[in-house]
Amino acid sequence: MAATDLQKVIDVKHWTDRLFSFRTTREQGFRFENGQFVMIGLPVEGRPLMRAYSMASANYEDSLEFFSIKVPDGPLTSRLAHIKTGDEIMVGRKPTGTLVQDALTDGKRLYLVSTGTGIAPFASIIKDPAIYERYEQVVLVHGCRFVDELAYGDRIVSDVRCDEFLGEIARLKLHHFPTVTREPFAHRGRVTELLRSGDVGAEFGLPRLDPEADRVMICGSPAMLSDMVALMDETGFVEGSISRPGSYVIEKAFVER
Ligand SMILES: Cc1cc2nc3c(=O)[nH]c(=O)nc-3n(C[C@H](O)[C@H](O)[C@H](O)COP(=O)(O)OP(=O)(O)OC[C@H]3O[C@@H](n4cnc5c(N)ncnc54)[C@H](O)[C@@H]3O)c2cc1C
Repeated sequence: MAATDLQKVIDVKHWTDRLFSFRTTREQGFRFENGQFVMIGLPVEGRPLMRAYSMASANYEDSLEFFSIKVPDGPLTSRLAHIKTGDEIMVGRKPTGTLVQDALTDGKRLYLVSTGTGIAPFASIIKDPAIYERYEQVVLVHGCRFVDELAYGDRIVSDVRCDEFLGEIARLKLHHFPTVTREPFAHRGRVTELLRSGDVGAEFGLPRLDPEADRVMICGSPAMLSDMVALMDETGFVEGSISRPGSYVIEKAFVER
């Protein structure tokens, strides 16, 4: 049995010259947990070229959404960036990943800390009604280099806040902290520094990061992950997994090749 299914592209949106998102049909039997990733790809010279992608859609939606980088000479994304409505892409059958609620012990507040396309799994998580039952506050932190790279994050937050079912609770509990490093903006600086200084919490009247009350999910570049893990370790957080839930979890947004 093939390990992938072919899904049809329903729509594509280019956010910047480096970022785009697309929706595809979804196999009825394809089940996943919000925050997980799956292998997706295209046939290249008769063979599947697959890469890991986080589902940016929630697990109750009829279609799948992905948010993607365009790497100019990237084997997959130099091709994927040209997909159009009606094209087919390959989607693996085995979603997996560490950014799941079962890997965290109970807490009061959930921090979702991302850079770049690392926001993709959190697009799925902020649409999960169970998150708003489990936590008193949900804080989505998204760092990019330039302001236009924040547009996808702005859209997913405003979609949830306007949602017919989730809107009311999300308007109360979901906080959004976008920041950029390379040009003027309301918030400037690296996500790790803004969390370390307490600026993120202060924006929403929240105390400094506290391993008793806060749970943290992290998805970003290898450099951001190593800075965040250092901050988590220094402040007494413990990395969780499904077999041993803890106070934070991490996933790479990409690997350096
Ligand atoms: C668990 C996991 C989940 C992922 N989820 C996503 C996702 O939701 N969206 C997404 O766009 N990518 C995601 N990636 C990265 C993705 O798997 C590919 O690396 C990416 O699509 C580029 O593929 P490529 O073949 O064009 O280039 P590759 O040969 O895979 O990468 C070439 C180089 O491009 C850079 N790069 C790759 N991906 C990124 C990225 N996302 N942001 C910044 N620089 C990058 C790296 O420096 C890498 O060395 C994920 C990776 C992992 C491990």
